[in-house]
Amino acid sequence: MTRLIFLGPPGAGKGTQAKILADIRQIPHISTGDILRNAKAQGTPLGQKAQGYMDRGELVPDSLILDLIRERLGEADAQAGWILDGFPRNVSQAEFLDSLLQELHQEFDGVVNLDVPDEVLVARMLERGRTDDNETTIRRRLEVYRQQTAPLIKFYGDRHQLHLVDGNQLLDEVTATLKQLVPV
Ligand code: AMP
Repeated sequence: MTRLIFLGPPGAGKGTQAKILADIRQIPHISTGDILRNAKAQGTPLGQKAQGYMDRGELVPDSLILDLIRERLGEADAQAGWILDGFPRNVSQAEFLDSLLQELHQEFDGVVNLDVPDEVLVARMLERGRTDDNETTIRRRLEVYRQQTAPLIKFYGDRHQLHLVDGNQLLDEVTATLKQLVPV
């Protein structure tokens, strides 16, 4: 059983690595960013509410995210384990996750933080070319990460649940490090 949380700034390769590891372990890769982008593309009420925040590089309000996570972790495939990518994104989401997991009688194995220098992050995001990957939004997303998400490094670090991984290596090297960190 693998249950992991992927932290790290935008552009660190969280999504890519989370997906690779989830495929290997045959567990769902749960990306709140992917869920929101799908909702936006389909024009659902959630997507319509989230759109403006996403386009500006802001976090969408917790009220849009928390029920979504509760539902997703309650689905059948998530009972075999999961990798969370992009959630939690702030301390109140992390506290919510703690109480949700208690309710579900689940515990996670650890939190992975992929560390990558800012200039590499910006270059990677510009290459990716997503609609929220223009320079202004990228700068704002990095700021939001520092203000709201980076405090989770201390939050989980203080609880000895954090693994720091150098994300500025070749893709395969990062995957190899992650595989060693969480043996099957
Ligand atoms: P990501 O693909 O994880 O970089 O997410 C893309 C965008 O979706 C972010 O810039 C936020 O606007 C929104 N988003 C994704 N996950 C969350 C979350 N857990 N809380 C709030 N907003 C989120």
